[in-house]
Amino acid sequence: MQVFKFGGTSVQNSENINKVITVIREALKKDRTIVVVSALSKTTDLLIEAGKLASAGNEDYRKLLKTNEERHLQTARELVPLTMQSALLSNVKKLCNELDAILEGVFLLNELSARTKDRIISFGELLSSVIIAYAFEANEIPNQWVDSREIIRTDSTYAQAVVDFVATENAVKQIFTKSRKLLYIFPGFIGADSKGITTTLGRGGSDYTASILANCLQADILEIWTDVSGMMTADPRLVPNAKAISQLSYSEALELSHFGAKVIFPPTILPAMAKKIPILVKNIFAPDDVGTLIEEIQTSSKNQVLGLSSIGNIALLTLEGIGMIGIPGFSSRLFGALSAKKVNVILITQGSSEHSICVAVDENSADKAKLVVDAEFNYEIKAQIVEPLIIEYNLSIIALVGDNMKSHPGVSGKMFGAMGKNGINIRAIAQGSSEKNISAVITTSDIKKAMNVLHETFFETAYKQINLFIVGAGNVGKRLLAQLKQQQTYLLEKLKLNIRVVSIANSRKFCFDDEGLDLEKWEMQLSEGQSIDTVGYVEFIRSKNYRNAVFIDNTANAEVPKFYPELLKKSISVVASNKIACSSEYSNYLYLKDLAKEFNVSFLFETNVGASLPVIGTLNDLIRSGDSITRIEAVLSGTLNFVFNNYDGKKTFASVVKQAQ
Ligand code: ADP
Ligand code: ASP
Ligand code: MG
Repeated sequence: MQVFKFGGTSVQNSENINKVITVIREALKKDRTIVVVSALSKTTDLLIEAGKLASAGNEDYRKLLKTNEERHLQTARELVPLTMQSALLSNVKKLCNELDAILEGVFLLNELSARTKDRIISFGELLSSVIIAYAFEANEIPNQWVDSREIIRTDSTYAQAVVDFVATENAVKQIFTKSRKLLYIFPGFIGADSKGITTTLGRGGSDYTASILANCLQADILEIWTDVSGMMTADPRLVPNAKAISQLSYSEALELSHFGAKVIFPPTILPAMAKKIPILVKNIFAPDDVGTLIEEIQTSSKNQVLGLSSIGNIALLTLEGIGMIGIPGFSSRLFGALSAKKVNVILITQGSSEHSICVAVDENSADKAKLVVDAEFNYEIKAQIVEPLIIEYNLSIIALVGDNMKSHPGVSGKMFGAMGKNGINIRAIAQGSSEKNISAVITTSDIKKAMNVLHETFFETAYKQINLFIVGAGNVGKRLLAQLKQQQTYLLEKLKLNIRVVSIANSRKFCFDDEGLDLEKWEMQLSEGQSIDTVGYVEFIRSKNYRNAVFIDNTANAEVPKFYPELLKKSISVVASNKIACSSEYSNYLYLKDLAKEFNVSFLFETNVGASLPVIGTLNDLIRSGDSITRIEAVLSGTLNFVFNNYDGKKTFASVVKQAQ
């Protein structure tokens, strides 16, 4: 037996469902097959929204239901020939009518219980699976549709039902001893409690349905078909350079998915792992890609870090106070209180001073956590030996995952060093004692930058990406851009630097390209760019929050240098051919140099001195090798040099100056 699961995008329309049919037609040549399907993509979200609107007495829910019905009827028509359509369409219609009736009830009562919500969202998978079962028939692939609610037995924790494996296994065996079909189609995500009431397994739960069935039948393989070519080194939506990982151990896959790699619903791994069933993750849009094989191996690779993942919508709770020092039992009271109210703790840190404990929880449970913890420590808070619980919002967790990290010192140093260099502030750190993961809590607005910085640090060691923002497109700016264009390949190949000019601005306009501007066409792009002033432009750069960002000032404008401190403080390096900052008050020059040091970035101005002769660099090298400066004698102006070298009394002084000019 083999079990295949197809996700929302894989079945989002008739075109994709036909791809599913092609995959299964091949698979059936090998073995009996179970197909578990998700709802058509976005259907579950739509049904949740319809439920919310209806319970708020908003008639717009009807429009959503209409759209939903139309989409399913249309998909059904496209998949099944006219001769078979009436049976399928009436099935779809019947389900939609039932759904309408339930929502009408919600609308009239202005009430949406967790139980009713589960019933409503179950229609997504019911509809998709019925349509797909008919589509297989239409392709002359006989099959049996099975209502998962008669098989997947759960408790009554709606939205997150807990599976009763004994009852489920019995139900599965009953079906499969009676029937010997080659192909079975199951709706994913849904089950029923002991009274037969519909439950759901948690968002993304169709993967779990498939794994449970694979477990009960001791399948040879569980294939999860989705819209990416496997589990990747990071979420490809955040990190464009993420790569598929070809092989993983169960524990590595578990750790990655628990820490937010949404490609597999976390509970999915365990039922397969318990029976040593390999899990293969494949891409429906690129079926020839190898995908990821998750199986029982020690560890998948020599890489210390296997992948990065992140979890958003985190709140950080801090309990602190002198009353906590050295007194046992504080943490057990804190965690006892949280667990009694089912607040799930995602990460914990405690300083060795024991003066405070920090825990990260889902944002939605923060208020509940505050109530229970403040109640638990009511006495100590009144006695002012413990502070009321402090909550911080808009945070995310970023985690480095890998079985191999424990044998390699220095991974966390590298992690935090890379983040520090890019101005990413770390709010809390945790490392599991198994050393399978190191996680940090950071501001959500830094998450994309942090993921890319860490991905570059651990996976793209071949190249370093530098992102340039260039202001000033006059003589100097143009020349720099021409040089960059000419040198780009050399810098990439020889120095392993991928230099990208992401934005160019002049005094009126700017252009921008997230992928790096095409240096053949920048003049046209700038002339068609958007209007902006310096304040707006600096704000724009800051909001982009790029890693390895460099601001280059090629203007002669006195306004632009005023923004250098702001940029340096955002960990953006500043390079100036503009001489105004470094020829202003000495204290200002020192301030800028200090800021650069403090924020771990560069402030460079080589072209300010000696008409671009390498003076500053040479001086710095001399100082680094132990020399000290006693006196500098030089004519640092290119123009004056020219005049003194050329005025010999034969021509007039005025004509020499003119020539210099
Ligand atoms: P399905 O509907 O097929 O179940 P999901 O949307 O649940 O698909 O999961 C697939 C998505 O998971 C991908 O499109 C990708 O954006 C996201 N994802 C997040 N982290 C990872 C990761 N580490 N590797 C692969 N995909 C990831
Ligand atoms: N349709 C459900 C969801 O969107 C389950 C799934 O797709 O796995 O969460
Ligand atoms: Mg999924």
